[in-house]
Amino acid sequence: MLLEGKGAALERDDAVPDRVSSLYSPDAGIAVIGACIPELVREIRDLHDLAPTATAAVGRLVAGAVLFGSGLKGRERISIQIAADGPLGDLFADAWLIDEHTLGARGYARNPRIDLPLNARGKFDVAGALGSGSLQVTKTYEVGQPYRGIVPLISGEIAEDLTAYLVRSEQIPSAVALGVLANPLGVIAAGGILAQVLPGSDDRGVAELERRALALAPVTTLMSEGADADGLVHALAGDLTLRRHRRLDVRFACLCSRAKVEAALVGLGAEDLRHMASENETTHASCEYCKHDYAFNSDELIALIAK
Ligand SMILES: [Zn+2]
Repeated sequence: MLLEGKGAALERDDAVPDRVSSLYSPDAGIAVIGACIPELVREIRDLHDLAPTATAAVGRLVAGAVLFGSGLKGRERISIQIAADGPLGDLFADAWLIDEHTLGARGYARNPRIDLPLNARGKFDVAGALGSGSLQVTKTYEVGQPYRGIVPLISGEIAEDLTAYLVRSEQIPSAVALGVLANPLGVIAAGGILAQVLPGSDDRGVAELERRALALAPVTTLMSEGADADGLVHALAGDLTLRRHRRLDVRFACLCSRAKVEAALVGLGAEDLRHMASENETTHASCEYCKHDYAFNSDELIALIAK
């Protein structure tokens, strides 16, 4: 079940949508989630004209949001934000359920054209592009206050930072591996693995998790060998007998709307709106995630003042 052979992998590329798969082993006391999201990262790359280093950074963070979002219910949402002082600027990603079979996700970088030479290990220098800063995870529930956790960046490579967040902020022994294969022409592979000790598991679960995470091949290697979301799970779980928790299709989506942009404009205040209406015939506001352009003429801006 791990790898179905190269031929099967090649045929699968067009047929299988981006997916996130969540399985668990009651015996070993661990849960393993795999995400394979090349189309999603491709779409974000094209939309934002991301340079390769920026593609790797955004792709890894979006893969993290998809993995974290694999257990969402109803109208819950996961948002992950990195605030950093490097050339890439801040990074954003979030994930939510579009319906019971589909997870929507999106992301962007403040400076999408940032590209750096590969690091000493021949990998994208995401840490260099981010610099130092913090990672914040926000979980919004259907009702009640959102949960927020924040940790300083420890490596800037994102997988280690998400692991640190889970261990420190949520106190769940976890391992996160992320990978994006990209070149100036596009995205070849993107995805990740999240493994966690199940609630109530003893120390054996922690030892099992550590042993398997240390022996894991790089996610990019696994994906270029044809592993899909289930394949990534089995690469970590090996011979463990697994039960399926969930499998979701994943696709790019956005949550913006004209009403939300109007609310943001109203928030600027009457004076700013009047100024904007007198300066330009048409004022444009574009969504940072999907680039949709919302245009308002002077009359429409003036009408907002009354709201
Ligand atoms: Zn949008």
